[in-house]
Parts: sequence; structure tokens; C-alpha cells
Amino acid sequence: MIRTRFAPSPTGYLHVGGLRTALYSYLFAKQKGGKFLLRIEDTDRERFVTDGTLNILKSLYWAGIVPDEGAQLGKGDTVTQKGKHGPYIQSERLDIYKEYAAELLDAGHAYYCFCNSERLEQLRETQQKNKMPTGYDGACAAMAPAEAKKRVAAGEKCVVRLKMPKDGETRAKDLIRGEVVFKNELQDDFIMLKSDGYPTYHLASVVDDNAMEITHVVRGEEWLSSLPKHIQLYAYFKWEIPEFSHLPLLLNPDKSKLSKRQGDVAVEDFRAKGYLPEAMVNFIAFLGWNPGTAKEMYSLEELVKDFSLEKVSKASAVFNLEKLDWYNKEYLRQMPLEELAKQAMPWFEKAGLNPSPNRGGARGGVWFESVLALERERVATLSELPAAVKFVFILPEYEAKLLIWRKGTLAEALKILPEIKDFLAGLKKWDKASLEIKIGEWIKEKDYATGSVLWPLRVSLSGQENSPGPYEIAEVLGKDESLKRLETAIAKLKN
Ligand code: GLU
Repeated sequence: MIRTRFAPSPTGYLHVGGLRTALYSYLFAKQKGGKFLLRIEDTDRERFVTDGTLNILKSLYWAGIVPDEGAQLGKGDTVTQKGKHGPYIQSERLDIYKEYAAELLDAGHAYYCFCNSERLEQLRETQQKNKMPTGYDGACAAMAPAEAKKRVAAGEKCVVRLKMPKDGETRAKDLIRGEVVFKNELQDDFIMLKSDGYPTYHLASVVDDNAMEITHVVRGEEWLSSLPKHIQLYAYFKWEIPEFSHLPLLLNPDKSKLSKRQGDVAVEDFRAKGYLPEAMVNFIAFLGWNPGTAKEMYSLEELVKDFSLEKVSKASAVFNLEKLDWYNKEYLRQMPLEELAKQAMPWFEKAGLNPSPNRGGARGGVWFESVLALERERVATLSELPAAVKFVFILPEYEAKLLIWRKGTLAEALKILPEIKDFLAGLKKWDKASLEIKIGEWIKEKDYATGSVLWPLRVSLSGQENSPGPYEIAEVLGKDESLKRLETAIAKLKN
């Protein structure tokens, strides 16, 4: 069975690059009828952040990426674990790593290293001065194991390093890049167990990928340089090597590495801005992959069907916010109004606008939906909706001169507005279509220029220079409120 994993470190939040890694691993596993796991790599205690795991879980679940196994989002926003390969949180597996480190020490593939930071610093300086590759020189490898054990027993501070081959090449297969080749002379004996007893990423991830029966490792390109280390660990343990896929980097439009300094990179920030999970997932899926057809709109289910790791590009992908906005707009436009109303509701409550469905009365229970329909095609995110339709809830302050059409005069507006108000007061049907017909007929009959009526009417209703058309607004406002706003406009002109 195919088993993939996403293995984030809980350093604060889920990065959009992490979301892509998780998504691709998820899609691949789901497509093959396999399992997708979430493992928490929290062995770097200096970068550990409380609630980091919870934040990652919340963002993943929001996006619809729910792990079959491993860390889970439990009731009441708690972190739970599920599955028989656990624990799935690395800080709960320290004994396991120690055991495997001991196995490598016993076999002579690893050794204790007592070099202190001053020595390592000096070594580095000398190497740099002589234009040599930097890295550990293997000094402690020569120490007799009995001597090393004695020093460890005496409580001396030490790390455990893995012996790496010094010549030849390490070759590996990457599903996206094909064969990758590393020169062994550039590898040093890296630390796999730190002096605090915690494993480094290399040891922990290889031990866990094996223990958790991971068949496909999907991760970011930044881990490609670690691959020879991992291959060597697999070789010493005589474990089967999983398939690897290293995903291309995400870049800012100026081709710099995507980082927090240039804008949002945390999934939770996009969520807080009112991006829809469907849009985010669709957008993220296309950062490095495309189906090779013109189809751009993909639900998570469709992605599961069509995604392919082999089609992921080696080239870096540009994180283009305009494209994300485009996706979000499309999803907002296509979402059933009822659903949109449900999702928009909290944003209105936050903005202090009462989305109570009975307000306005004109269309009863669907009133709020008709308000949203006014502007939903013009906004990019849910968070922009309250401001866009605020004029429906509260008539904005505006100046009398805004009521005067660019080809008209004050006198004309003062004549026409009371007339149209009286005409509207006599109408029985108050929906957009009949208003459009009736007002159209009235304008013709009076022989007015269309703009001389529709401009002041629309400004009276919206209080804004730009807004949707007067018929739609009138319908949403209802007859009473519309007439009231016309009165306000007339009073403004008279002042
Ligand atoms: N813990 C690593 C990270 O934070 C995981 C790398 C991997 O997937 O092997 O990205």
C-alpha cells in the first residue's frame, strides 16, 4: 500500500509551501488508494513553538487535507493521535532514536564526537581560508570505542556522528528530477544525535519513515541536499529506500525566495483575509503542477483524480497573488448564494453589520443573499464583502453635488428627483425586473435623458459615486428605505 507523510516542524504556523507539500502528498496517496500521515517533527527544541502543531492542524483541516493517520485535530481544538505506527510526535519517540543510534555505534557506522564548538569554529575558519569544503574533519572517528565509551560514562558532553563515505558518488532516484548524483567528497560525518539526547532531523526522519512504512517521501527542494545522508542511513540499516520527490521552490514574483518579509506566507493569514479553502487549494495545486489541459478549476476530489507527481515541474514556481485572487473571485462567483451567505455571515458580524435575514423585508429570508449578490462578483475575498455592501446597511455621507449628472444641472436634478420619487411611491411591484420596466417607460414618457434620471436615482440610493445599478439596489433596500433615501437626497439638494 502507498503511504505518504507530511512531516512539519511546529515552528509557529503552516507556510504556504508546507501546504503544497502536504497537498501533493495527500493527493498522491489518495489517488493510489493509500494512506496519508501527519508526523510532527519537533526535535529542534530551539525552534519549538507552543501551539505550533495545533496551528498546522487547523490550517490543514481548513484546507480539507485530513490525515488518515498520525496527528489529528481533536475535539475542542486539541492534538490527538491515530494509528498503529505511533507515537507520531517525534519528541515522544526519543528512546527509539537512541536505540537505533546505539545500533549504528555498535556496528562501527557511527562514533561519539567530543569536539567543542571552539574547535569546530577554528576548523571551519581554516577550511574557508584554504578554500576547502567546510565540514567535520572526522577527528573523533579515530578514537578507540572503549575510550569514547569511558568518556561518555564520565558524563562528558558529546554528539554522535555518522560515518559517511569519502569518495565515489551517491546516486538516487527522484520522481520529479530523475537520477540525482552527489559527490561523496563533499559529505562530512554529520551529527545524528545531539548532546541533549535529541536526534537531528536526518536520523529521526529516516527512522520514522521506515517505522511508519512510508513508501513515498514528498518534500521541499531544500531537503534535496540531505538525501545522500539519508541514503547512507538506509544503507547502514539495510532498509528499503522509499521513492523520493523533491518539490520545486516557491518564489516571489521578483524571483526571490518566498519569505514572510514580502507578505503573507502563513496559511492562517490567508484564511483570516477571507480566502476560501477551495480557492487556496486550487491555486496551491497549480504551483508546480498542471494537468496539461486548459482546465483550471479543480476541486480537491478532481485533483485526487488528475494529479500526478511525475508531471510536477523541476522549475521553481512563482507565488502569484493575482492568480490567487482570480481563483478566489471565481469561487465566490460560483458558490451557491446560500452557502456564500453562510460563509460571509461572520465577516458581517465582525464588521458590526447585522446580517439578520429578515432585514429589509422585501425578499424575506433571502434578503442577506440578495445583498451579497449585489457585489459578490466585484470582490476578491470574503473580507471585502462587508465594506462593499455597507451602503445597504448604512447610507454613507455624501455631498449634494454628487447627485448632479455630469451632463445635467442642479435645477434639473431638483426637478427630476421629486418626480421620480412620487412615481416610485405609486408602484406596487418592487422587484428589479418590474422596476426596470416601469422606470424605463416613465423616462420615455417624460422624454428625459436616461442619465438625468438614473444617475441621481442611483446616487440617492447608494450614496456612492460607484455602485451597482439603481434597480438592483432599490429591490434590496425595499420600497420604504428607497423612498426615504430619495427624500434625504432631495433635502440635500435644497440645502
Ligand atoms: N521537518 C521537516 C520540515 O519541517 C520535514 C522534511 C521532510 O519532509 O523530510 O520541513
